[in-house]
Amino acid sequence: MNRTEVVVIGGGLAGLFAAIELAQRDVDVVVVEAADRAGGVAKTITDSGYLLDAAVGSFLLPHPHLTPMLSRLAVEIVAADECASRQWVAHKQRLRALPRTPGQFVRSSVVGTASKLRAACEPLLGRESTTHRDESLSQFLCRRFGSRSGTTAAWLAASGIFAGDPNLLSASAAFPKLYDLEQQSGSVVRAMVGSKKRRSVEVPLPRLHAPTGGMVAVVGACADILGERLHLRTKVGSVERIGRTWKVETSDGSWEADDVVVAVRPEQAAGFVPRPVAKTMAATRSAPVVVVGVGGRAADLPFPQGLGYLTMPGEGLRTVGVVFESAMFANRAPLGHRMAKVVLGGARNPQMVEWSDEQLARIAVEELAWTLDQTIEASWLAVVRHRSGIPQYEIGHAERRAQTTEALGDFPGLRLIGWGYDGITIGDRAQEAVELADTITGSNTTV
Ligand SMILES: Cc1cc2nc3c(=O)[nH]c(=O)nc-3n(C[C@H](O)[C@H](O)[C@H](O)COP(=O)(O)OP(=O)(O)OC[C@H]3O[C@@H](n4cnc5c(N)ncnc54)[C@H](O)[C@@H]3O)c2cc1C
Repeated sequence: MNRTEVVVIGGGLAGLFAAIELAQRDVDVVVVEAADRAGGVAKTITDSGYLLDAAVGSFLLPHPHLTPMLSRLAVEIVAADECASRQWVAHKQRLRALPRTPGQFVRSSVVGTASKLRAACEPLLGRESTTHRDESLSQFLCRRFGSRSGTTAAWLAASGIFAGDPNLLSASAAFPKLYDLEQQSGSVVRAMVGSKKRRSVEVPLPRLHAPTGGMVAVVGACADILGERLHLRTKVGSVERIGRTWKVETSDGSWEADDVVVAVRPEQAAGFVPRPVAKTMAATRSAPVVVVGVGGRAADLPFPQGLGYLTMPGEGLRTVGVVFESAMFANRAPLGHRMAKVVLGGARNPQMVEWSDEQLARIAVEELAWTLDQTIEASWLAVVRHRSGIPQYEIGHAERRAQTTEALGDFPGLRLIGWGYDGITIGDRAQEAVELADTITGSNTTV
C-alpha cells in the first residue's frame, strides 16, 4: 500500500486547486482522477482556429483567492473587451438591455410601469425574518420586488448561473450574498447602493477575464506543478477509516493517508464514502446542459457587440443563454470570423442532452437567428454534452449540507469540496482550496 499525508479524489478544478494549495505548504499530497485527463468539466476545444471552453471559460478578477492562484500558475490572462459590460435579455424576438443598476431598471422595457413602481418600494419594506424557512429564489425576489419584476429577475439569475429553475433553487443556498443583503440592511437595493458608495476608487471593480489559451492552460499548469502527484485513470472504489488513518482503494492500488479530500460531485461521491456521510449526498439534483459552439465568417454571423443574452421561459426558446465569445476575447475565432457559445437544456429542458448533435446544432443556430432576427450561416459547429449537469442548490440543500457536516464529525480527516456544495464558480474553488489547506495545516491565511 502507498502512503501519503493527503489523498485528493477527483482532478477537476476543485481537486487540482486544493492539491496545489496543500503542496505549496509542503503537505505530501496525491490526486487520483478517474478520467484520462485532468480538469473535470473544464475542457477546451481547439479546432480550425476556434477556441471553445465547454464549461467555465471566463471569470471575474480581481478575486481574493482566484487572483493569487492564477498568478501562482503563471497562466497568461486577458481582460474581456469593454463591450462585455453590455448584456441582454431575449424578449419577444428582441434583445433588450439587461438592467444592472436601479437607474437602468427604471429606463428598461423588460417589465411595465406598474411593476417598476412596485419594485421601487423595496427599500421601504424592511427586513422580514425568514430564518425559519428555506425560500425559493422566486419567492424571495417576488416578496422583495413584486411578482412581475421578481419573477423576471429570478429566472434571469437562475438561468445565468445555474441553468436552473428559480422555483426550486433555494435563495439562501444558491445566492447567499444576495439573500444576506436583506438580513444585513433590511433592503437589497439599499445594501447594493451602500456597498457601491463604500467601494474605494483604488479597488478596481471585478471584470471578466479569461486565460488566453483557454482553461486547458490553467489545467495544464496545475498538472505541471503536481507532476507525478497527479494519477490519471485511477478510479476510487472505496474510502474506509482503519484505526487512525484512511484507506483509499483505487483501480490502480490503494493509498493510506491521514486526510482524504473528496472533490467529486456529491451524488457520485455517495457511491464510495462511508454510508452515514453518503446518506444525504445522493439526493443532490443537477440540470444537464448542452454547449454548442457556433462559428463562421463575421459577415454570416451578425452578432451584436456584447457579452451575450439570457432567455426567459414562455418565449418558446430552448436556449438558456448565449455568450458572444469572439466579441469579448480576440482569439476565440480565426481572423474575420466570430463564435458564440450557446447553452441549451438546463432545468427547463433537461431531456435535450439525449438529442443528436445535428438536432442540437440546428436548434442553436435557428434560435440564434430567430432571436437576433437575422439570417445566420454557421460554418463551424461543436457540441458538448454535460450529462451530469450543473448541481442545483434546491430547497433543502442547506439542511442536507448541515446533516452531511454533522455526519462528517464521526469521520475525522474526511473532507468534501467541489461545486456540489458551497458555490459553483471557479472563484469558489480557489477559496475552498485555501480554507481547506488552512484547516489541514492548522494555519490561517484566509483573506
Ligand atoms: C456549461 C458550464 C458553464 C460554466 N460557466 C462557468 C463560468 O462562466 N464561470 C465559473 O466560474 N464557473 C463556470 N462553470 C462552473 C465550473 O466549471 C465548475 O465550478 C468547476 O469546473 C467544477 O469543478 P469540480 O472540480 O468541482 O468538479 P468536476 O469538474 O465535476 O470534477 C470532478 C472530478 O472528479 C472525477 N471523479 C468522479 N468520480 C471519481 C472517482 N470515483 N475516482 C476518481 N475521480 C473521480 C471526475 O472525473 C472529475 O474529473 C460552468 C460549468 C458549466 C457546466
